[in-house]
Amino acid sequence: MKYLSTRNSKNLLPSMEVIKQGISPEGGLFVPQDLPKLSFDDLSSMQGSSYQQRAVKILSLFLSDFSSDDIELCVKSAYRDDNFSSPKIAPLVKIEDKLYIQELWHGPTSAFKDMALQILPHFMTTAIKNTGEDKEILILTATSGDTGKAALEGFKDVDGTHIIVFYPNNGVSAMQHLQMATQEGGNVKVVAVEGNFDDTQTGVKNIFGNQAVIEILAQKGFQFSSANSINWGRLVPQIVYYVSAYLDLLDKNEVSMGDPFNIVVPTGNFGNILAAYYAKCMGIPINKLICASNDNNVLTEFIKTGRYDRKREFYKTISPSMDILISSNLERLLFEISGRDDKKIISLMNALREKGEYSIEGESLVRLQSNFWGGWASTKETLSTIKNVYNNFGYTMDPHTAVGKWVHELYVKETGDDTLTVLASTASPFKFPGDVIRAITGKSPDKNEWELLDDLKELSNMEIPKPLSNITGKPVLHKDVCKKEDMVKAVLSY
Ligand SMILES: *Cc1c(COP(=O)(O)O)cnc(C)c1O
Repeated sequence: MKYLSTRNSKNLLPSMEVIKQGISPEGGLFVPQDLPKLSFDDLSSMQGSSYQQRAVKILSLFLSDFSSDDIELCVKSAYRDDNFSSPKIAPLVKIEDKLYIQELWHGPTSAFKDMALQILPHFMTTAIKNTGEDKEILILTATSGDTGKAALEGFKDVDGTHIIVFYPNNGVSAMQHLQMATQEGGNVKVVAVEGNFDDTQTGVKNIFGNQAVIEILAQKGFQFSSANSINWGRLVPQIVYYVSAYLDLLDKNEVSMGDPFNIVVPTGNFGNILAAYYAKCMGIPINKLICASNDNNVLTEFIKTGRYDRKREFYKTISPSMDILISSNLERLLFEISGRDDKKIISLMNALREKGEYSIEGESLVRLQSNFWGGWASTKETLSTIKNVYNNFGYTMDPHTAVGKWVHELYVKETGDDTLTVLASTASPFKFPGDVIRAITGKSPDKNEWELLDDLKELSNMEIPKPLSNITGKPVLHKDVCKKEDMVKAVLSY
């Protein structure tokens, strides 16, 4: 299996190169040359297997230049019992008739990013070893809150790698900020950027394309890579849990082989829902992919009309990891639905950069709308959803997941389609204790984060994730703040 770039489909590369490079030199994103298929027989043979066994099987299809021993080692090192608080790794929980929640936040940083970022560093070191790479890898990451901590945890003290995380100053939750500011490790740096997530992500992408910086780094023995979902190595582990969700539904006799189900994904950079789309293309019988947004509803408009327009107000919401107006991974979907036309992608991405918008029509729009449905939730609707789910089902969800729940209700109302549905729960409610307590009790408690964790434990009857309760008393190690235009300097000073 080889990979090509969405902006240059001529240049074929093996997965190790793709993971090491993170992004293609001309700015495109790597995609597999053709998607492997899973037949119903393949799926039957995986029923009843463990998450780890499923991961080995799916990852091997995509990372065909990795030896099977290496893949097994990567999987075993990442999805360990002492790393994940559920032995199922990504368990399904039924909260009402025809609605399952897939809890993707049992990893060490309590958000779904761990599902990929616990294994990406192992892919990276395997690729470095097997390709005879003589440079050290310098990972640059932009985060809207959760990727940063998950990437820092994954890469801390990993030989041959260094990581710099940029996050929007005042653009992440109090707990997300604490998690990053207290990060330990000898190869890590954390910097706040005066700007929003889009500024931060654009800044990082510009550094990847800055030839002068690349050369300075090369002379010092470094090469850039990415831990954002632009890196294929982040997307492929996410395909695993959507396949696993269907196998779990089969194991529970909720569906018979071939019966369809819907998937709802709280969406920001479009990586998570794109992984579900790939699972569908591989043969998992997914009916609709329901894309849930917050007030930054650029994707809702795109799916409904075919017009992508980032020229709109940027809102800071209580689901900060979805506060994004430029969804990077949409580029991969555009490539697929436009019939893999790299020229077309270059012109759409130029239009987005220069005019702030683009439109798709015809066959591409038909493909988009036959696979996806989009909707959004306001802050008020998000808070009321947390409260209603808590009162009606005794289940406590975080604000991102609640956005998904609300949008699913909208979808059922508008379409009448009540197919069995899996809602991807992207974060633990303990990452956003203040807002979750406010939603449930109607009061904004004037307390510090530790007191809030205890209060939420009482309300939810859930255990506080250990890494979150352990932050208490950890020293703040990272206080750097830089201007948008000084991100290059911050990298060079590392
Ligand atoms: C990153 C994140 C999202 C958005 O996921 P994308 O793959 O960027 O679309 C949603 N919810 C939470 C909690 C996240 O951390």
